[in-house]
Amino acid sequence: MSLHKTAIALLGITFLLPGCATSPLGRTQLLMQNEASLASSAAQSYQQMKKDVPISKNKALTAYVNCVVTPLTQEVVGDNWEVTLFESDEVNAFALPGGKIGVYTGILKVANNQDRLAAVIGHEIAHVLAHHANERASAATLANIGVVAIGLATNRNQNSQLAIAALGLGVQYGIIMPYSRTHETEADLLGLDIMAKAGYDPREAPKLWQAMKADKKESIPEWLSTHPSDDSRIAALQDRESEALSYMEAAHAAGKKPHCVMPK
Ligand SMILES: [Zn+2]
Repeated sequence: MSLHKTAIALLGITFLLPGCATSPLGRTQLLMQNEASLASSAAQSYQQMKKDVPISKNKALTAYVNCVVTPLTQEVVGDNWEVTLFESDEVNAFALPGGKIGVYTGILKVANNQDRLAAVIGHEIAHVLAHHANERASAATLANIGVVAIGLATNRNQNSQLAIAALGLGVQYGIIMPYSRTHETEADLLGLDIMAKAGYDPREAPKLWQAMKADKKESIPEWLSTHPSDDSRIAALQDRESEALSYMEAAHAAGKKPHCVMPK
């Protein structure tokens, strides 16, 4: 990147900086990206995915996934939530800014009842509600500008490329990854609240992560992973269980009692 472009990028930052916000769990966040443009690029990726990845033709299974997701999206305002069931063995699900949800058939083997699937989707919806994509993109922008600035300072140095590469690695392991762990923990807890308020049983959330752990072939040490270890997320979910149970009981008292049966 030329000095000229860097100057523009740094200038851009000063305009974008007043983007401080607070996450739903009270953490201060730096949000520099425009939510509407994040949502529109997410919508484009989602459309593309629907062309590239086969969509399940199993009507009963699709109806079941919709049955589980609808009470969850009814708990959260804004966004035009949409869910697609993709035919894939991958044990995964996602939700994008703007409310586009994807569920892979592979996750239904692990999230094998309505409450566990609700725990997965609640977690993904929580990422969207807490603007995690925006926060990550903002952190990446700041990190890149920092790396470029150091690169310019060491421009004459033969080892400058190496210095930039090493710094990039430091940014990855020092900023971006711990950041993701914060996001995962936050999504777990906020997701637990969402599922319980929709009337699902929050006691199934730690059981889901236990099943996920059993499903995994090898475990990655927590410090190197973008996700908290299964054991620490299970413990954190159990800590919040009694609070979440009171949300579930209130939901049941209000007539919110989902009953979605997974087809055989
Ligand atoms: Zn997550």
